[in-house]
Amino acid sequence: MFNKAKFTAIAAGVMFAATMGAAQAADDVLIGSCIYKFDDTFMTGVRNNMEKAAADLKADIELVDSQNRQPMQNDQVDTFITKGVTALVINPVDRSAAGPLVDKAKGENLPIVFINREPDKSILDGFDKAWYVGAKAEESGTIGGQLIVDYFKAHPEADKNGDGVIQYILIKGEQGHQDATLRSEYCVKAMKDAGMKIEEIGADNANWDKVQGHDKMKNFITAKGIDAIEAVLCNNDDMALGAIEALKSEGYNTGKDPKKYIPVTGVDATAPALQAIAAGQMLGTSLNDAYNQGTAAVRIANQASKGEAVTDESIGYKITDGKYVWIPYVKVTQENYKDFMK
Ligand code: BGC
Repeated sequence: MFNKAKFTAIAAGVMFAATMGAAQAADDVLIGSCIYKFDDTFMTGVRNNMEKAAADLKADIELVDSQNRQPMQNDQVDTFITKGVTALVINPVDRSAAGPLVDKAKGENLPIVFINREPDKSILDGFDKAWYVGAKAEESGTIGGQLIVDYFKAHPEADKNGDGVIQYILIKGEQGHQDATLRSEYCVKAMKDAGMKIEEIGADNANWDKVQGHDKMKNFITAKGIDAIEAVLCNNDDMALGAIEALKSEGYNTGKDPKKYIPVTGVDATAPALQAIAAGQMLGTSLNDAYNQGTAAVRIANQASKGEAVTDESIGYKITDGKYVWIPYVKVTQENYKDFMK
């Protein structure tokens, strides 16, 4: 890594580096980051983008897998502190357990940036070096609902039983996650606000997971019958792709027979979801912007590590209330999915 302090010292003809001994030079940045679990499609995207952002800034970053266990994450934070990291970027396992992590960071005057799982505002307000980078779940919920509204406007025949009411299934993320609660609430709200008559014939949590999404959808098909289901709204793409697998095994959503199609929505715009949209198997999704979320978090950590001001200008993202960077969602449909393929 390029070490500015050592470089400046050598350039000035001073053996500054030697006097520092083995200790880190003043502006060496080492970001310690805990990800709630590595085996999560969306967070893998964020993680990869964090590594790229750190490399661009010539900052070091160490990412660890909290394996969906909060106690393990707490220990990892302790280890990072002992190691002398200059900032923390934390994707909590349990966002209601963020308080003790902020206390640890505050005790060391160590900057801490939370991502993806939002702690209570009061927790962030308790430390001037605590931030949150994320996206407003209300937006992606609204987009999911609007996708269904637009679909039924264009395809009135998709009201299969012709009762003027859209019978839908809701597949939700993890309980307690703000994205699960708000996306679920706002997709229903968007359909109601558009004047659509709707009836929820099934709702369940599938914890962001494709296999669970598949299994839950299979249960609904068995319980209600495929003909009774007119739309499927999912809190993320992995669960939507699982639900689509279940529909495919009934001969639906294969992309071949337009009569055997039930509109399915997700959130994230992962590569496999974009492919499913391209193949006519999935209605749409919204971009959950892993690039900008990962980049903003690393830039804040980098600035704060160096003791420099964290401002809109210094990080290149708008900061709200001195604490929050909100990255917007973008609606992804049959019309524009190609713009999001890498
Ligand atoms: C994403 C999910 C992901 C979850 C992890 C959400 O914002 O949409 O795909 O599993 O974050 O916390």
